[in-house]
Amino acid sequence: MIIDAHAHIFPDKIASKAIAGLEQQYGVNACGEATVPGIRTSMQAADVDASVLLSIATTPAQVESINNWLAEISAYAPYFIGLGAMHPEYPHPEAEIRRMREMGIKGIKLHSEFQHFYPDDERMYPIYEALSDDMVLVFHAGDEVTPVRHVHTNPDRIASVLDSFPDLKVVAAHLGGYRCWDEVERHLLGRDLYLDTAYVFPIPGHEHITVERIIDIMEAHGFGRILFGTDYPFRDQRKEVANIQGLDIDDRHKALVLGENAAALFNIDMNGT
Ligand SMILES: [Zn+2]
Repeated sequence: MIIDAHAHIFPDKIASKAIAGLEQQYGVNACGEATVPGIRTSMQAADVDASVLLSIATTPAQVESINNWLAEISAYAPYFIGLGAMHPEYPHPEAEIRRMREMGIKGIKLHSEFQHFYPDDERMYPIYEALSDDMVLVFHAGDEVTPVRHVHTNPDRIASVLDSFPDLKVVAAHLGGYRCWDEVERHLLGRDLYLDTAYVFPIPGHEHITVERIIDIMEAHGFGRILFGTDYPFRDQRKEVANIQGLDIDDRHKALVLGENAAALFNIDMNGT
């Protein structure tokens, strides 16, 4: 069983424009269509059984319409697990998170570099409280592909969210903090949160970590708390699966990382279909 815990698609109408904007901003190229049919094709080629789809609201006004779309996409369960959008300025996070829960949405994604917040800022607390201990919170973590002047979601700030909300189910993307690996090791390894592997494996031009260090981080954190993620369409799901399968770790740990951990976290039952 293979679950990609970090992928992005958009409604058909806006997908090509949204991806073109992100390609330009990051100087990267998408390797597939960021649409429902596009990711299904990619999943078939890569033997990925399910993808967790992450959406980001760049304004509070987008929150409800993104969540309505994600609820529609959830009709493809268990192949797609859509996580909801939320925004630090959204006026009634409790009510919208309750609505998400009723629609079957299993968590949210927050992206500090698009949404301008610090994870440990107290104005974020109502969101964390509303997520309670059942919904999953995915943070973009660390720097960006194109370095930003000031990183908002540092590993130490994530650690302080864990201190304040010990029951919150947290995933820190990009192995806990893209290009902040020293801080990841200092503040996050061994803590009760998940780290995903999205956009981490070295590719030409983005060699910010060695495969040996990726294994060291996984091992030190515990293979039971690592999620395979790709950042599709910015990474090729087939190549990313091969990256995990090619690691010099035992098969039991590969199975946890590739799918079993995500199935448990998101309560995905691939056998019920
Ligand atoms: Zn991403």
